[in-house]
Amino acid sequence: MSHDPNCIFCKIVADQIPSKKVHEDEDLLVFHDIHPWAPVHILLIPKLHIASMADLQPEHAALMGKMTVLVPQLMKQLGVTNGFRTVVNTGSDGGQEVFHLHMHAMGGPRPWAKG
Ligand code: 5GP
Ligand code: ZN
Repeated sequence: MSHDPNCIFCKIVADQIPSKKVHEDEDLLVFHDIHPWAPVHILLIPKLHIASMADLQPEHAALMGKMTVLVPQLMKQLGVTNGFRTVVNTGSDGGQEVFHLHMHAMGGPRPWAKG
């Protein structure tokens, strides 16, 4: 399924739900997390509806590579100069709450990142 009408992040991609966008291109959308855990907390998502990392297929390799390479560029753009944390929660035991694959990128002064 390329678009799931019941998926909150597909609705953000379709501009049916507003978001504070950081980056958009033909494959990816990046926006600020609505409940940030860090001074800078962004979510990188493929526009394509992929439910979780567990659903990745070999043809998604370039997409995921593009997403990963974008992280340091955007963190720099957002003023994060002293390191950041990336997290991909996968499945219910992995703590995933929104079932549209996303990468969290978090930065800014600690102590938010402890533990
Ligand atoms: P997960 O636990 O699935 O890895 O993380 C989902 C993240 O999506 C959470 O950090 C949550 O705050 C964020 N989130 C959920 N709904 C929305 C929304 O409507 N807008 C934005 N910007 N973030 C959301
Ligand atoms: Zn979706």
